[in-house]
Amino acid sequence: MAKIANKYLKTDPWRIVEEGFHPERNQVSESIFSLANEFMGARGFLEEGSSAKSLQGIYYNGIYEWGEEANPGYKGIIRRTHYMVNGLNWLKTALKVDGEAVDIAKGEISAFQRVLDLKAGTLTRSFTLHSQSGKIRFTFIRFLSMTHCRSGYQRIVISSDYPAHIEIGFALDFNTKHWGQAGRWQADLDVQEGMLLALGRTQTTGQYVAGAMTVKPSLPLSSSIYRFEKEIGVAYSFRLDGEVVFDRKVSIIPDKRGEKKNSLLSEAKADLLQSLDFDKALRENREYWEDFWKKTDIEIEGDPENQQGIRFCIFQLQQTYHGFDPSNNIGAKGLTGEAYSGHAFWDTETYCLPFYLFNNLSAARDLLLFRYHTLPEARKRARELDCEGACYPIATLNGHEACSLWQHASLQLQPSTGVAYGIFHYFRISRDFTFLADYGFEMLLEISRFLLSRGQWNSDGSRFGFYCVMGPDEFQMMVNHNTYTNYLAKKTFLFTLEVGKLLKEKGVKYFETLKKVGLGEDFFEKIKTAADKMLILYDPKTELFEQHQGYFDLPHIDVDSIPVTEFPLYKNWSYDRIYRNDMIKQPDVLMFLFLYNQEFPLSVKKANYEFYEPRCIHESSLSPSIHSILAAEIGKTAEALAFFEFATRLDLDDYNRNAEEGLHLTSIAAAWMNIVYGFGGLRSDGEILSLNPQIPEIWNRYAFKINYRGKNITVDVTKNQVKLTSDSESSLSLLLFGKEIVLNSEYCVERTQV
Ligand code: BGC
Repeated sequence: MAKIANKYLKTDPWRIVEEGFHPERNQVSESIFSLANEFMGARGFLEEGSSAKSLQGIYYNGIYEWGEEANPGYKGIIRRTHYMVNGLNWLKTALKVDGEAVDIAKGEISAFQRVLDLKAGTLTRSFTLHSQSGKIRFTFIRFLSMTHCRSGYQRIVISSDYPAHIEIGFALDFNTKHWGQAGRWQADLDVQEGMLLALGRTQTTGQYVAGAMTVKPSLPLSSSIYRFEKEIGVAYSFRLDGEVVFDRKVSIIPDKRGEKKNSLLSEAKADLLQSLDFDKALRENREYWEDFWKKTDIEIEGDPENQQGIRFCIFQLQQTYHGFDPSNNIGAKGLTGEAYSGHAFWDTETYCLPFYLFNNLSAARDLLLFRYHTLPEARKRARELDCEGACYPIATLNGHEACSLWQHASLQLQPSTGVAYGIFHYFRISRDFTFLADYGFEMLLEISRFLLSRGQWNSDGSRFGFYCVMGPDEFQMMVNHNTYTNYLAKKTFLFTLEVGKLLKEKGVKYFETLKKVGLGEDFFEKIKTAADKMLILYDPKTELFEQHQGYFDLPHIDVDSIPVTEFPLYKNWSYDRIYRNDMIKQPDVLMFLFLYNQEFPLSVKKANYEFYEPRCIHESSLSPSIHSILAAEIGKTAEALAFFEFATRLDLDDYNRNAEEGLHLTSIAAAWMNIVYGFGGLRSDGEILSLNPQIPEIWNRYAFKINYRGKNITVDVTKNQVKLTSDSESSLSLLLFGKEIVLNSEYCVERTQV
């Protein structure tokens, strides 16, 4: 794989540390040092600004704008996209020393450090500024409360070794730029009861964001209020020969529906009055993270870089989503940048869900509820595509399809089959029958209905399948019988049948749901026939699945012959050139072998891995981890480790050279899978949970934790031993190295016995 690390951060088990300011990498650092709490996200930008390249992004989950309305003139092509918009900047700090604006990219500074503390959830930045008269040390600390997600905090400590003239302003600012363009927020500003207030309204969606802010200096300083059109702040101007501390806290209240304009500022004020002060809130945040790590940490001994990497990934994933609000989802870049417009993809159910299934089941449920609540939009989308049922969007913030590339929006069915897979996977782990009855069944019926109407019978009526689709491999468009699509559709039909049968037997919401969606029982017969007759291109002699009809005839290209300088290909090759050979972007056949892992014998996985892996260029960051997991399973341990290299440190070492646009949140989720499913060998798609832990040569020990059926289980793996411990005595049957075992509080097996 043509990927090379671009290292500049210190290795540390619990912190991400940048020592010395790297102006040319400032925007990369801003992504890496992002903080979030699901409700909002703030890139790690310099509060006081600088002349270095920067994206000063603060985003609020579910706050977005519509794009320009277009008239493509073709049915089914979306007319309007939407995007998460850069919002209220409550960290903005105007800073002057002896009359000059502080710009650390230009001024003389020393001892610069930027630290993301994964145990406290804080971002701390400090540096010493050398002026003509002496030295001034600045420390900026910020955090977003994980327990009270509407609260944000900033502390600035300034100490001077001479009587410096300091001018500092703390603002609420709605001038934030989106993709470098001046924002379109309308803002009302006010000061009431010692609080600065700002109420912003988005232009096209009419949503509101209200902010209330106070600033407390440690010295008795006089202040003045300043305001511009969209910015309000409080300023201090004073001589400092010693130390001063400023604590700023904010409460932000969103109104996604744009219905509460008149009460929002009062709500923000009341929230701010009740919120904790900096130190108490920080203590609470620390406790939150401590508790979280107790249940979720992954330890790796003998590999400090991946130890740091995996903790960074887990931290970022938890920050981005933890089940705070079911109307939120996980954007491919989380709340860390503007690329992918904040949109959630099929990545949510296929890449992110497992982390929540084994750490936070109610958050997993909420992710699926997001799809339930957006069923109306999915139904509408199916109609636009001349189909029935519900077609889930490839990219969305609110349920509407937002992808303006029609090839993806119209031809990719994996978001819909992904939702069905998510329901299946969730049910396997949770046995949450109520969810199936109340929500799952309805979604499954509608997805199956869509698939049945989108699929077609071949000319002699003997085989069912999908024509003109694009599978997960986005380098092959408009293909027939993509095996991933056909296989996933078949499994969706079969699971819908299974759930229907279950609900009918239990007499729960079976007829009611059928009636609600307007289907009769004959529907089951239809999907059963389609499932039975689904064309799955498989050759038992070679054990190979053909990626789609005709794939094996495509001109072959040796992907290793493509010069490194031509990657990423989408920037260097014309779009259509990419399609004209057998090169693939990301796992396609291998993806369904991973998702329905327990359905396939090892020899099939091996044959397909050996055939498809050399054809894959891993242009999607979602690709290496799935290869690593399968490589581990088929015994290619060195290869598994080589692919794993990119998983935990993809952004920390900027392997794809695009971390400046934001973090790859969904491949961050894949990094977790890479350890738990890859080296840990967890398989969760069967009736019984299965573990097959191996240990990479370079590791001495690793341990991960999962919560399953009410038990917190630690899987501790050394070169000699695998030990499972649980905090509960209840017995649980598991497969360990293929043998059924019963886990009570501890189970240990020596490798020599395996
Ligand atoms: C991948 C898709 C993925 C999207 C968002 C694309 O590059 O090909 O599979 O859904 O990125 O992560």
